[in-house]
Amino acid sequence: MSRKPWVGGNWKCNGTKASVDALIKTLNESDVPDKTKCDVIVAPSHIFLTHVLSTINPRFVVSAQDCNQFGNGAYTGSHSPQMLKDCGITTVIIGHSERRDVFRETDEEIGQKIALALKEGFDVVPCIGEHLAERQAGKTNDVLFPQMKAIAANVKPEEWSRVVIAYEPVWAIGTGVVATPQQAQDTQKDLREWIAKNVSEEVAKSVRIVYGGSVNGANSSELSSQPDVDGFLVGGASLKPEFATIVKNIA
Ligand code: PEP
Repeated sequence: MSRKPWVGGNWKCNGTKASVDALIKTLNESDVPDKTKCDVIVAPSHIFLTHVLSTINPRFVVSAQDCNQFGNGAYTGSHSPQMLKDCGITTVIIGHSERRDVFRETDEEIGQKIALALKEGFDVVPCIGEHLAERQAGKTNDVLFPQMKAIAANVKPEEWSRVVIAYEPVWAIGTGVVATPQQAQDTQKDLREWIAKNVSEEVAKSVRIVYGGSVNGANSSELSSQPDVDGFLVGGASLKPEFATIVKNIA
């Protein structure tokens, strides 16, 4: 089964009104292939979401970087899937390693966010990844499989078509140290096998698993040639014109 490539740009907590406008201009003028060839999402900070949505070419999907697991109510500082939806947002990244490590989000909370976002109709991008010490100790799958289990427990069979799994080794995020194509392939193959065994063969064949961690215009071609790498979640390079090169390299 062929899976449509997917590339996401996670702008994190970066940008000013001026730099966001400059980035939108660059993307609007870029010659990235159309939606039939590749799904491309950009995830600005919440405060810029509606501005980006109203000014970016609709060829790009605008995503939130997080949502809450509660809905509307007395949850100061958070954003519910319902209000994101009301603002026209259709996609949300959940459980990025910075949410897990800096904001101490647990697998349980991440699972609850996934369940609510899917219930509200979102496409979701759950992120998983191991730390360097865990990989060096040969424990990568011991970390990833429980993370996958917490995700899968919150996805109904009919919702899997709205899920893109982002495998992001924590040691590769923002470090300039990219996983080798073989490391990405081997790990993502293992994840697909886990899904085949624990969800279904059909979902394992169709679900997109993307790699994230120091992806750039120079390394993306070789990474994307791996059979189980269906695309990328990109941090630093998504703030630069090179993001379009990454999309062109895989589409
Ligand atoms: C990320 O934040 O998801 C990421 C992969 O960052 P970078 O591309 O900068 O490593």
